[in-house]
Amino acid sequence: MSVNQQAHTGPPYAQPQPGYQGYQQPAYGGQSLPGVPPAQYGAYNGPVPGYQQPLPPQGYFPSLGFPSKGSPVSLNSDTSSLAPNFIGSLRAPPPSGAPPPASGASHPSGPLAYSQFEHGDVQNGIPASAAPMQRPPPSQPFLPGSAPAPASQASAFQQFGPPAGVQQLTNHMAGMALGRAAASAPPPSALGYGPPTSVPPVLESFSATGSGLYTPYSASQGPPPTSVTQGLPLAQPPFPGQTVPAQRLPTQVPGFVPPPPSTGVGPSSYPPTTGAPRPPAMPGPPLPGQTLAGPPSSQPNHVPSPPPPSAMPMSGLHGPPPPTHPPQPGYQMQQNGSFGQVRGPQPNYGGAYPGTPNYGSPPGPPPPPKRLDPDSIPSPQLNELPPQQKPRHRIDPDAIPSPIQVIEDDRSNRGSEPFVTGVRGQVPPLVTTNFLVKDQGNASPRYIRCTSYNIPCTSDMAKQSQVPLAAVIKPLAVLPPEETLPYLVDHGESGPVRCNRCKAYMCPFMQFIEGGRRFQCCFCSCVTEVPPHYFQHLDHTGKRVDFYDRPELSLGSYEFLATVDYCKNNKFPSPPAFIFMIDVSYNAVKSGLVRLICEELKSLLDYLPREGNMEESAIRVGFVTYNKVLHFYNVKSSLAQPQMMVVSDVADMFVPLLDGFLVNVNESRTVIASLLDQIPEMFADTRETETVFAPVIQAGLEALKAAECAGKLFIFHTSLPIAEAPGKLKNRDDRKLINTDKEKTLFQPQTSFYNNLAKECVAQGCCVDLFLFPNQYLDVATLGVVPFQTGGSIYKYAYFQLETDQDRFLNDLRRDVQKEVGFDAVMRVRTSTGIRATDFFGAFYMSNTTDVEMAGLDCDKTITVEFKHDDKLSEDSGALLQCALLYTSCAGQRRLRIHNLSLNCCTQLADLYRNCETDTLINYLAKFAYRGVLSSPVKTVRDALINQCAQILACYRKNCASPSSAGQLILPECMKLLPVYLNCVLKSDVLQPGPEVTTDDRAYIRQLVTSMDVAETNVFFYPRLLPLTKADVDSDSLPAAIRNSEERLSKGDIYLLENGLNIFVWVGVSVQQGLIQNLFGVSSFSQISNTLSTLPVLENPFSKKVRSIVDMLQGQRSRCMKLIIVKQEDKLEMLFKHFLVEDKSLSGGASYVDFLCHMHKEIRQLLS
Ligand SMILES: [Zn+2]
Repeated sequence: MSVNQQAHTGPPYAQPQPGYQGYQQPAYGGQSLPGVPPAQYGAYNGPVPGYQQPLPPQGYFPSLGFPSKGSPVSLNSDTSSLAPNFIGSLRAPPPSGAPPPASGASHPSGPLAYSQFEHGDVQNGIPASAAPMQRPPPSQPFLPGSAPAPASQASAFQQFGPPAGVQQLTNHMAGMALGRAAASAPPPSALGYGPPTSVPPVLESFSATGSGLYTPYSASQGPPPTSVTQGLPLAQPPFPGQTVPAQRLPTQVPGFVPPPPSTGVGPSSYPPTTGAPRPPAMPGPPLPGQTLAGPPSSQPNHVPSPPPPSAMPMSGLHGPPPPTHPPQPGYQMQQNGSFGQVRGPQPNYGGAYPGTPNYGSPPGPPPPPKRLDPDSIPSPQLNELPPQQKPRHRIDPDAIPSPIQVIEDDRSNRGSEPFVTGVRGQVPPLVTTNFLVKDQGNASPRYIRCTSYNIPCTSDMAKQSQVPLAAVIKPLAVLPPEETLPYLVDHGESGPVRCNRCKAYMCPFMQFIEGGRRFQCCFCSCVTEVPPHYFQHLDHTGKRVDFYDRPELSLGSYEFLATVDYCKNNKFPSPPAFIFMIDVSYNAVKSGLVRLICEELKSLLDYLPREGNMEESAIRVGFVTYNKVLHFYNVKSSLAQPQMMVVSDVADMFVPLLDGFLVNVNESRTVIASLLDQIPEMFADTRETETVFAPVIQAGLEALKAAECAGKLFIFHTSLPIAEAPGKLKNRDDRKLINTDKEKTLFQPQTSFYNNLAKECVAQGCCVDLFLFPNQYLDVATLGVVPFQTGGSIYKYAYFQLETDQDRFLNDLRRDVQKEVGFDAVMRVRTSTGIRATDFFGAFYMSNTTDVEMAGLDCDKTITVEFKHDDKLSEDSGALLQCALLYTSCAGQRRLRIHNLSLNCCTQLADLYRNCETDTLINYLAKFAYRGVLSSPVKTVRDALINQCAQILACYRKNCASPSSAGQLILPECMKLLPVYLNCVLKSDVLQPGPEVTTDDRAYIRQLVTSMDVAETNVFFYPRLLPLTKADVDSDSLPAAIRNSEERLSKGDIYLLENGLNIFVWVGVSVQQGLIQNLFGVSSFSQISNTLSTLPVLENPFSKKVRSIVDMLQGQRSRCMKLIIVKQEDKLEMLFKHFLVEDKSLSGGASYVDFLCHMHKEIRQLLS
């Protein structure tokens, strides 16, 4: 069997994509490299000479003002041929962390884009003399220190000598030179940072580098001290952007290079000039008009539809009831079961129903497989006799819809051909199917998935069906390397062409009329003049002759370069900044965390996101440490040693230094390295246990404000912030509230302070990523408010231990730092007349009803949008969505990413049910429910979910299914997994917590799920269970998954279960000794340690195969999963069983069989 997503081991997150040099992408679905363990540097988009820096494209599209995503030929062919090899080398530690050798790079074109910001937009932080943030001098006398400090700031800060210990740093503010500790620090070359000491300093490189953004630092301060020249790499080439200042000028020709064939073709197929016809290799999408008129029947790559769905009953439940079937009185409530009725003896079924998850072998005649008499499912009134009078029967679990079967069927039916998006309203393959997408006018399902691709024409129909109309949108999703990333279109100063009335962006569905002089908006029907520069003649079919040359006319997804009108204050943005803010309280230091973070940052800073083939990242970095007070660091390149400035007045946070806080990594390499060496030493003896939290965010926010840029805070935090400060919290954890009306307070923040802070952060484009290392309750519900509302992420490592958790944490950190992020983002979803977006779910902030604001939006984040009718729709015109995301790229380029999707509309309910997607429906329902718990009792939320799904299925039964016995449970083909998946949502930790689930876990999961995509919710709610002992060690494939039930496990086998957060390896008690030896390196079951956090690296095929599977799965997920070894009958097994979601759960969750019976009962009630 083939894996459901393309595998790769470890996350070489930033492979350049063929056909698009501009982006660095996580290699989601990259090449499989079985057996390669997640090496420490596996995640790095490392400086690989010749790989990241393609040949200069100048000869290619000379007229372009901006780098286009149409990439130079050389890159295309290079990357496609080299990628597999380079994954291997990328995984190795970068040679002593050295920066990319400049000699290996010819003049890259990347900086061209960067250079635009020179023009009147030099954002160089605030010059020292400006000092708007300056405060009155504190009472402490100013002691001049040895290191230079900006005069304007010096008066405000006490200058320390070398630190004798943190306790000294208690007073209001202190600037201090960290000279002493640095004396023992290894020389820069030993750190792998700076240039070889033998390289002579070349001061000119300072003024010539930095694209002008950083130049004033050195220029304004005269010649840098010698220490700087020693500490700074000379290898930096002059910034090419400076030599091409005219790049920002609008080009005569709109800067779009025609898309190359989507499958990474070599140079020869590359269109040589702008405006050239699209290469023949790429079949043109159908005309918008054709598309709108309904799916062409002869679509070349048309993917076979699912089986004819009309009135298709659930396979196992099909068929008339046996005529002899007597109504059976009396059903026993199962122990702990919510819906524990068991049906009476049925002719077709033998065996007892033990009433436990573990269905034993049924006695009596073997049941006919795959057949379940629906009438046997009990109705409520049959539930009265005492248990002892009721013979018990089991429902054959094989006869009810199997997720495994559905996934397998979809893979074999739809995995072989590409999904071509030219046809309106096509249901894509399932998220568990590995397929390629060809954009021919609609956005890829990797960007948008819908609950239904055929939506009712009227609101009455929609209400009747109760099927929510929602789209799950992942605007910056990572594509597999085989697929083409959205092209960047540059219309120069005039900007994107838009509808005059509704402001929709030019897209394939706009209709050109009057010989091409005007176009009619597909969203609001308004007619708009075509701007002269955009005019083009129409061909005899009414299609513009440049149709195939313009992504915005022929593709579902593309980007526009935004003009200054799309920028805050009518100014192009500065590149964003990253600020690392490290808790240095006692717990953080003692656990080794502080040292770990500092060590990691030394190398990680070389892998900040870069735009395209830019030589270095444009992102500036800053550093703060904190406990009860905050320590800021001046790491200006001209300093010999970093300086610390302490702010203990946390009640009114400000940033004590402006110049030197946010710096370019390469320029300040030595100072940063020195700082990172010194931080663990400085706080090694701390006894401070209390922390602040809100002031930390405020500090980062103020720093970004002062630098007038967007950015991201990486906060590493360990405890409930109880120190006296704004946003101080108290421990209010109370498990007694569970199942009461007050349970919702556990999910709500305990103060509104953080909501207000989040709002300020969003306004500045300050995104917060929070890494938590709690040893006890720290109120995730409150601490998570700012990360959540700014589009950030939360990571949580409870009881963090260096030994077992460091790899997981470091992998997460690396991926988080490197991943694609759009800053200062606003998303709006436009719809054609008749429907509109009414509700939004995800990690964002909304100040009005239409604009989704995110300080940062990364490639893993998803926004779910719900639509409601406001008018009738027509089957002819269908319905259209356009998602427009305005954001700032990692180099500070303002862009618009547009995704378009056309859907069908129906007047028959059957068409709706035939084109639904249950995985997306579950994504929506889970998010809807998880938001509901903020305001309603959990039980109310659960009941509402059950009721809505029962109505959905009852409506189908009533209106679409062919007539049959009322007792028959008939499910729509596309929704036959709705009951099993819904049950998983109902049993999840948020809605039905087990005793081991903490309040923080629940808050954490709630926030996490809210921005998950469909693939993530799918595996989260119905984990993947693989029999490892069935794996073929000679092939790359995964063993066939099995259903999540204990009765599927054999005690002689080893299984792996993953849900996106954890990987369990379950070992049966009777597993052969040889297998145990091969996998764990011990001779018996009893010797297997259940504290292992990784599998031992052993040189045998089984060990290699299992580790490669683990690596492959890790590579498919956006977070590093925690590996947990579970021995059968061991204590930890309870934890594992929690994820066997078809079984009854300890917390009272129903088994699949029981829940299906319950749903059937609900449906019957609705129908009667
Ligand atoms: Zn319009």
